[in-house]
Amino acid sequence: MYLGDHAWPDLGDYFAEESLALVPLGSTEQHGPHLPEATDHLIAEAFAREAAERTGFLCTPTLPIGVSPHHRQFHGTMWVDAPVFRDFVESFTRNLTYHGIDRVVFVNAHGGNVQHLREVGRRLRDDEVAYAIEWMWDESIPDLVSEVFEQNGPHGGPKETALIQYLHPELVHEDRLEEARDGGIPSVADADTVKHGSRTFYDAADNTGNGVLGDQTGATAAKGEELFEAAADQLVQLCEWLAEQPFEDLMPEEHV
Ligand SMILES: [Zn+2]
Repeated sequence: MYLGDHAWPDLGDYFAEESLALVPLGSTEQHGPHLPEATDHLIAEAFAREAAERTGFLCTPTLPIGVSPHHRQFHGTMWVDAPVFRDFVESFTRNLTYHGIDRVVFVNAHGGNVQHLREVGRRLRDDEVAYAIEWMWDESIPDLVSEVFEQNGPHGGPKETALIQYLHPELVHEDRLEEARDGGIPSVADADTVKHGSRTFYDAADNTGNGVLGDQTGATAAKGEELFEAAADQLVQLCEWLAEQPFEDLMPEEHV
């Protein structure tokens, strides 16, 4: 159930019976010469809406701007500063609790948001207001991702390419996949920016000329569908598990 589609009198039954919400979050940032800047939030929204449709749980509107200053050198990348993002997501989630939500899955598809969503989840749990956890689709199916792609590349690589080919084929520049591969780098390790154990880079532009990693030429919509179905199953199971837990069991342990 997608919250934005319903009139308020029709939402009362949901809040009376259920207390879980899926919140899609992503970014609007460069994803190489071949993918749209919306890549991350389109992926997050697709997973959240799919899981909401399959389970009947509530999906909120998508939060499409995240923490992406490390992509700022490329045209169009949008971001907010990390403290602003954390405060916004915390306030938004606290306000969901006003309607009776006490457990939230942040369906996130942008790596740069992870640590901040974890921090928000910690604040809400420490205050015993809500239990909010972060979920990334590719981390729910690591074995399948490595099986499908030998070199999957973390950003704008074949796994994200395959998902957008499946979800929004009209937004993929198929004729630029080779250009994406040749102008980027295969993996972070290949950029040689980790020196004596220190990560010496801060921005994507420090280690890749066109902003992306991995070999995009192996991506297909069929692979995207396989990954999407497998990860959506994981998200459905996570929601079902979370809904079953007594709220007290989700809260912090007592001091010993
Ligand atoms: Zn991405």
